[in-house]
Amino acid sequence: METLTTITFEAELWRNDAACARLGVPTGVFFSDHLGDIAQAKRICADCPTMVACLEAALTRNEPWGVWGGQLFRNGKMLANKRRRGRPSKVPRPEEQLPEVPIPLHLLSELRSA
Ligand code: SF4
Repeated sequence: METLTTITFEAELWRNDAACARLGVPTGVFFSDHLGDIAQAKRICADCPTMVACLEAALTRNEPWGVWGGQLFRNGKMLANKRRRGRPSKVPRPEEQLPEVPIPLHLLSELRSA
């Protein structure tokens, strides 16, 4: 018979392979409002073996903020991208070129526009 503790433990096993934990990346990178940090977080997620499980878990928990599973969450919604305020620059800055991390097909319906 499964107990709540067993179910929770098994559900969290994917965290053992999390790239963010293995690399010792400061947590703040994943919860920053700066585009350079967001880009760094997305690049780490893009190579993470648990990306899909992480994104599914974030959506299940209704995560309000941060980068989870390679996607940016703001106000409880998964956003397509984040734009700098004001006019876009003619020559994009490196930090503005956020890496595109594909969203698994079964989670595409959760996507919102920035
Ligand atoms: S997908 Fe990103 S946030 Fe999720 S466990 Fe991997 S590195 Fe961490």
